[in-house]
Amino acid sequence: MGGDSKRAMVPTTSAKYPQLAPRPVGKQIHHLYRDRLGLFTNSGQYKEQSLVAKLYDGRLSGEPHVKLHVWSAPDLTRPTFKEATAKGNEYRKTQKGESFGPSWSTHWFKLQFTLPYEWTYKPQVELHWDSNSEAMVWTEDGKPLQGLTGGGERTEWIIPQEFRDYDKEHTIYIEMACNGMFGNPTGGDTIQPPEPNRYFQLGEADLVSVNLNARALYYDFWIIGDAAREFPEDSWEEHQALQVCNEIMDCFIAGEGSRPCIKECREIAKRYVGDKVDSAEVYKTDNDAIVNAIGNCHIDTCWLWPWAETQRKIARSWSNQCDLLDRYPEHRFVASQAQQYKWLEQLYPYAMDRVKDHIKKGNFQTIGGSWVEHDTNMPSGESLVRQFLYGQRFFESRFGERCRTFWLPDTFGYSTQLPQLCRLAGMNRFFTQKLSWNNINNFPHTTFNWVALDGSQVICHMAPCETYTAEAHFGDVKRSVTQHKSMDQDATSLLPFGKGDGGGGPTFGHLEKLRRCRGISDKVGLLPRVKMAESVDEFFDRLEKKAANGETEFVTWYGELYLELHRGCYTTQANNKRNNRKSEVLLHDIEYLATLATIEGEKEYKYPKKALDGMWEDVLLCQFHDCLPGSAIEMCYRDSDEAYARVFKTGQKLLQDAIGALGFDDSLKGLEHQHDVTLETLGWKREQEVCDLVSPNSLSRSVTVQQTGKDVFVLENEQLKVEVTEGAITSLYDVAAKREVLPKGQKSNQLVIFDDKPLYWQAWDVEVYHLNSRKELKASSSTTITEDSAHRVAVSTTTKISEKSWIKTTISLSAATDSSKPSLVETEAEVEWHETMKFLKVEFPTNIRNTEASYETQYGIIRRPTHYNTNWDMAKFEVVCHKWADLSEHGYGVSILNESKYGFAAAGNLMRLSLLRAPKAPDAHADMGRHHIKWAIMPHAGPLDERTVRAGYEFNYPAHVHKHPEPASIAHLMSAFKLTPGSSPSLVVDTIKRGEDDEDVSNGDMPAKKGRHVIVRVYDSLGGLSRGTVTLGPIKVKKAWKCNLLEDEQEEVKIGKEGLEIELRTFEVASYKLLLE
Ligand SMILES: [Zn+2]
Repeated sequence: MGGDSKRAMVPTTSAKYPQLAPRPVGKQIHHLYRDRLGLFTNSGQYKEQSLVAKLYDGRLSGEPHVKLHVWSAPDLTRPTFKEATAKGNEYRKTQKGESFGPSWSTHWFKLQFTLPYEWTYKPQVELHWDSNSEAMVWTEDGKPLQGLTGGGERTEWIIPQEFRDYDKEHTIYIEMACNGMFGNPTGGDTIQPPEPNRYFQLGEADLVSVNLNARALYYDFWIIGDAAREFPEDSWEEHQALQVCNEIMDCFIAGEGSRPCIKECREIAKRYVGDKVDSAEVYKTDNDAIVNAIGNCHIDTCWLWPWAETQRKIARSWSNQCDLLDRYPEHRFVASQAQQYKWLEQLYPYAMDRVKDHIKKGNFQTIGGSWVEHDTNMPSGESLVRQFLYGQRFFESRFGERCRTFWLPDTFGYSTQLPQLCRLAGMNRFFTQKLSWNNINNFPHTTFNWVALDGSQVICHMAPCETYTAEAHFGDVKRSVTQHKSMDQDATSLLPFGKGDGGGGPTFGHLEKLRRCRGISDKVGLLPRVKMAESVDEFFDRLEKKAANGETEFVTWYGELYLELHRGCYTTQANNKRNNRKSEVLLHDIEYLATLATIEGEKEYKYPKKALDGMWEDVLLCQFHDCLPGSAIEMCYRDSDEAYARVFKTGQKLLQDAIGALGFDDSLKGLEHQHDVTLETLGWKREQEVCDLVSPNSLSRSVTVQQTGKDVFVLENEQLKVEVTEGAITSLYDVAAKREVLPKGQKSNQLVIFDDKPLYWQAWDVEVYHLNSRKELKASSSTTITEDSAHRVAVSTTTKISEKSWIKTTISLSAATDSSKPSLVETEAEVEWHETMKFLKVEFPTNIRNTEASYETQYGIIRRPTHYNTNWDMAKFEVVCHKWADLSEHGYGVSILNESKYGFAAAGNLMRLSLLRAPKAPDAHADMGRHHIKWAIMPHAGPLDERTVRAGYEFNYPAHVHKHPEPASIAHLMSAFKLTPGSSPSLVVDTIKRGEDDEDVSNGDMPAKKGRHVIVRVYDSLGGLSRGTVTLGPIKVKKAWKCNLLEDEQEEVKIGKEGLEIELRTFEVASYKLLLE
């Protein structure tokens, strides 16, 4: 009723909907209109008709506008600016098209340019330089301005205003390095060893005038095009993006790419990206953004190039960022690794000043708090401490601030005590993403609490874009939500973008793309809203606050963040790993003895802080995540060999100095052993060397060796009876426990070899299928008795591995002098190794049954499955251990000790120590040559306990015996810093050193403090409440504090009658600072 009259009142528009259809209109064939978009921005057959042809409206090449001369540095040297521009260096004329080489050589170009009058008012003029390699722009007076990366990665240098006067010649220098971002890999396959004879063609050396509108349209179109390609087809946002892009193309074609039509195209684009994308204004809306973009450039401190090239990569990359930070106010850039800042400070003071200025402004941000982005699997606990101590002290001394976030995007797995150590180093948060490389299981969290063995936690965030070198693509922003696994708790994320490794970090293009992504979120929606993070710290501050006030309960992950990849890195480059272990031991002993020497030694003795710092900095540098793991090229290992040689040379001298200052004198003559003193550098008194106790003439031999058959020998002491048949152990009988350790018919100490061809990353990976190729190696010589003394017996066997490789193993047993201390069956191996893609291991089958094995890790024990129930269990088919691994059941167990190895496996009742690998990339000669390896089998009655922990230390730390004129006079001092007999045996006194800022010690980086301090670092090694007392001998302590790793005093502690009384929770690492009287 009445309906008809209402309808009649609807007003009609003036345009009339035609009664007759004028023409047919078809439905767009979606994929054709989408695929068409590529034609507009590709450099393909339509390039000259497309937008790409409009990006520049002028180009000047060669003379008279660009004059080019070159001087090639001799013999692969990398001269400084001053050296390169010294009088007498002959610069010869050159031009585009010429090639320069060989690999690793350096060429300095003198480039003189003159701009024509007509270019005076061009809005932006750039030098485009593409030498297909890395390069650096320098001013005529030696200021490094900007890095360039060839192959189109970053080839433009904006000519600054002061160079824009016409008809005047200006000069700059360009330093060309004959390597790409990833060094000089053979055949272009990134990980193949460097090709020594590569030449690089100078492809571009032009002045260009930029059509800024066309360039802006290029980024508009790129990002809207991504929306058309990547938004779901069932969303209106995808369809609209497609319509906008097609409309832009049609408009461009209609206007023949003229300037006005490009402007018109940009107007069309605004319908999708909004009208603010030409400035940082785009971010200034009230909308909350959940994706936090942060610029970074992951510069591997060494990898496919040597340290010397890294130093140049740093200067090039960070200079770029200083320039970009000036031009883009929203840009924020983070850089980690104190070592890299130190190099910049030493080698590029001008670049360092620029960095410092930006740090002051707050847009260049220090992060990470460590010396380098180090490996965390293999460095000792004390090394991890020093990574933070040296890192944080550097940041504080140079920039007035410590870091609050531990930043380690690329390291190959993360050890379980890191959260505790991070917190003790002033960092509550941790950033990484490497677990996205897992090739078996998908790690289930993005933002979570990561919990250490002692219960300490840090907030961990793993960027859901799953890269630390994002190109700031539309897809990276999108994946920041689609791959986010912790959105129940918090949907925010970090998006670390920027080219790494000499690509120079973020580009202006990255920043332009991000502005447009943000524009789309605000204008259209669907895409997660991105902003430039104010800082990484601010990102974590918010999370930390949410966790603290109970707004969100983040999920927890206890224990190590095991990387299910790169398991070969526990073994590759064996000598480098051995040097790491030996350096750590040497530094420990020096610091302990030097501390004692400064307390009661010769008056003129001075704690060798500067030399120790030098040693530590070398050791910490070599722990970089491509150095210690063995994944760098041969050149890098020549670098690290030199560093370790310095460490050992300096270390031996420092050790002798400290021992001398304590009054020892090895030239003393006297009755046998009258002057001998064993320097106890560990926190407990070691057993007397057996040779001192057993007289060679003793009638009852406490250790014997007998041949009982052809190539069958029995070595026996009061605890063990070891049968060696053809070089392998065929019986290991525990006399006291009345127990055979080996399963019937099996052989221990058996050498085995595997075919070792991972899917791709040779030096890095060993893949699970290598286990299928197990082959036992058989002795090739008869076994002979090589030692038969009252305190030790040994038999030796040689085993041929191949025509070129062999291994000589010497199995020894010492007299047992203390029934509470289990005997070791030791093996010393000498190996000549020339294999290709083989993996050498030694096996120890046992009669032990347990679903878990135990492995020493930094400051504690980690337990891992011995079975393959789930894919998570099986993924751990090869794991890292420190000085020992142990398989125990109720009442009995077997520990395997080593003194330079890190790779291990326990599967069922079988344990395997990994010895040597033979990958051919990226170092074609990795591990070839002679090796010396030691390990030991330690069966023990009862559970895994301090006997294994201490045996691990004693197997690694040499017993120093030196002569003292009055041994009694030094005994009291040498009794300091030991555990009293009543202390929990789980306690380990790990480090004794002097306070960093003591006035007689300080290196001047930080203000010195009055008084002399000793730092005592102790930990619970077995996992339980530990109480005890650390003795102080004659040392008088005025005041004592518990302190953090950075030696900040935290709470005062009392000194008891017997010494420093301590109580530690499970696997706690505690540091104490003692002020001496
Ligand atoms: Zn890396």
